[in-house]
Amino acid sequence: MTQFESVSRRRFLLTAGATAASSILLKGCLGNPPEDAANPTSPAATPVASVVKPGEEPEVATARLGYIPIVEAAPLIVAKVKGFFAKYGMPDVQVDKQANWGAARDNVKIGSGGGGIDGGQWQMPMPYLITEGLITDDKKIDMYVLCQLNTQGNGIAIANKHLGKNIGLKLDNQVAFFNQLKSSGSRFKAAYTFPRANQDFWIRYWLAAGGINPDTDVELLTVPASQTVADMKRGAMDAFSTGDPWPYRIVAEKNGFLAALTAEMWKAHPEEYLAMRKDWVDKHPKATKAILKGIMEAQQWCDNFDNRKELAQILSRREYFGVPETVLLEPLMGKYNMGERTIDDKSMAVLYWKDSKGSVSYPYKSHDLWFLTESVRWGFLPKETLTTAKALIDRVNREDIWKEAAKEAGIAAADIPTNTSRGVEEFFDGIKFDPENPQAYLTSLKIKKA
Ligand code: CA
Repeated sequence: MTQFESVSRRRFLLTAGATAASSILLKGCLGNPPEDAANPTSPAATPVASVVKPGEEPEVATARLGYIPIVEAAPLIVAKVKGFFAKYGMPDVQVDKQANWGAARDNVKIGSGGGGIDGGQWQMPMPYLITEGLITDDKKIDMYVLCQLNTQGNGIAIANKHLGKNIGLKLDNQVAFFNQLKSSGSRFKAAYTFPRANQDFWIRYWLAAGGINPDTDVELLTVPASQTVADMKRGAMDAFSTGDPWPYRIVAEKNGFLAALTAEMWKAHPEEYLAMRKDWVDKHPKATKAILKGIMEAQQWCDNFDNRKELAQILSRREYFGVPETVLLEPLMGKYNMGERTIDDKSMAVLYWKDSKGSVSYPYKSHDLWFLTESVRWGFLPKETLTTAKALIDRVNREDIWKEAAKEAGIAAADIPTNTSRGVEEFFDGIKFDPENPQAYLTSLKIKKA
């Protein structure tokens, strides 16, 4: 591309953004909220000058990415609203709210060509289960894991009727309580939004660490996030595991309290990811990197606590989460009313770019291995999975694309991990996961199916 072509392209992108700029200025100038519930029209993206370098021009300007309205989705929404996708040459990326995880799965199965999505936000190991055809009626759809969206920001909420019974992070002294419920014929009911993925794993880990067998001592059920407040209120469940703002809402509306934050169970734990269909990525390698660059910039923006009030405002909009800003702000600032205690610690909040272990955005292969190992632990995947896991992870996890995108985006070398393993991980109960020996981890666990 000649210098002239490069300049005209930049001018075109700036002009395209200018229309968006005027509409946003008309709606909310000088400190007024740029958006309010009375106006359901989507605000246009904030114009940001394009920085597309010659040779990095995306093959297409659009892609359809699904999200679920929990704080994990923030980098996708912010990349759209703040114009970071546009900045890297993808002004028409659509972020599409999904009714639930099952809908996201069904939409990626048909792809954007069929009116669905090209990828988006996933719990783990959903991209692996989709690749293997395990949750898509045996239809194998190859997926690529491209970046981690966030760490922490999840919790386990307990119904108010159990307040004062000392149900907290550690359940070691509560086995009798759970057994009593079991023998009375009404086992403790714990819910998550999708089976065999993060939230199911967090609640199982928490229970099992306290000596309670999630398969036999309690009842586990799937409930869509949007239904949880109502279900908790009418006593249909005793516990719920999900991302903010849902656990917080349960507390704010006095239907329950928080027993544990996932950040307490496993500091800087892997949480949710961006994954896309392999066929889309293979066809659009530059657009994929442009999407990643936009998300990385959004993650850095989201990670700055000075921006979190604005982040709460953006996410609260009707077309995104459609919840009061107040229920988002406190958890985003690391303030949690746990019921019997309070937490006010930014390092316990959802984090998007950096955590105590380094990079949040980089998708460590060792974390994918933990999710597959945990799937074996609970009998969701056969034991042989451990033998083939490395090859499968090498096929699905495209940390190499993340690194290329990070370099193109000018991310400091110190912020680009050099090892695909984060090394040995330690949980709140002292259990260790060594990615070099997942079998040793399984052996060390007292409660398991495998
Ligand atoms: Ca989550």
